[in-house]
Amino acid sequence: MLKFEDIVGQEEIVSFFRRSIRQNKISHAILISGEKHTGKKFMARIFASALCCERGGENPCGECRSCKMAETENHPDIVPVLHEKPTSFGVNDVRKGINDDIVIKPYQTNRKIYIVPDASMMTPGAQNALLKTLEEPPSYAVIILLADNRETLLPTILSRCICLSVKPVPNGTLRGILREKGKLSEGDMDLAVAFARGSIGRAELLSESEEFSECLRECVRLLSRMERLSSSDERTFLKLIADNKGKEADYLDFFRVWFRDVLYYKATEDAEGLTFSHGRREIMRYAGKLSYEELRKTVDYIEEIQASLRAGVSPGLSFELLIDLVRDALTDMKV
Ligand SMILES: [Zn+2]
Repeated sequence: MLKFEDIVGQEEIVSFFRRSIRQNKISHAILISGEKHTGKKFMARIFASALCCERGGENPCGECRSCKMAETENHPDIVPVLHEKPTSFGVNDVRKGINDDIVIKPYQTNRKIYIVPDASMMTPGAQNALLKTLEEPPSYAVIILLADNRETLLPTILSRCICLSVKPVPNGTLRGILREKGKLSEGDMDLAVAFARGSIGRAELLSESEEFSECLRECVRLLSRMERLSSSDERTFLKLIADNKGKEADYLDFFRVWFRDVLYYKATEDAEGLTFSHGRREIMRYAGKLSYEELRKTVDYIEEIQASLRAGVSPGLSFELLIDLVRDALTDMKV
């Protein structure tokens, strides 16, 4: 059975959970925010199991009936709150999943815990519907909201919750975890760590994905010949992006890290410190050709596209414009 010790790099959240259990002061509303794949649900489940454990220790014991049910996700008092539409969480979902159910007393233990995985998808109407419950929750209720992006939550919701945020895990720790799995070469491991942005879940996904190395090779091929990119190369790139709907921001990450490398090399001339060890020669060449201003502009533009993709805006012409921006800078066709 998973315990608090299995949570890596989130001391603040873990010590909050442990302290609440030790002092028996459990908040009725807790928000855990952090990017996708950062283990929010994993942490919430361990906390919920500990709250329901019949032995009442700081960690779930793993042996009592309650722990066994929690482990297989069959505990009647640990309620996952789902939503019908894939991208939005509406009023009816809140009513059905929380408001109408919360009046029913716990079956097995003296607590009833609601885990809401996609809280950031809640519409304002849904949040207002939830607010009424948060204002006067039954004494046994604990609502744990998990949000990829807390910006979408109303201030009135935030002010009723204990807000915890997931911290990025240091690269050294991530590298250690990947090395233990032994699936990647040292070079690919550096890249997976760079793309994981401090998330263990992402690092693991990348290390297990065959697509990752393939797409990486394709991006390096394109990136190393941006100024003489033929129209068929350009089409290949646009097709790669189009074929991977929903992952555009991830693919752009290759570009972001690549140009960060160029910027890094320009400032330090340290080829050993580059993330893209495969593309070293090209990165050095780019560093000689591009000015700080052009590099900064490129990285900013990539980050801008990524932010709008994450906010659900369609990419439109942003990829063509990105290619033009880099190609013009490299070939001195500046406007
Ligand atoms: Zn137990």
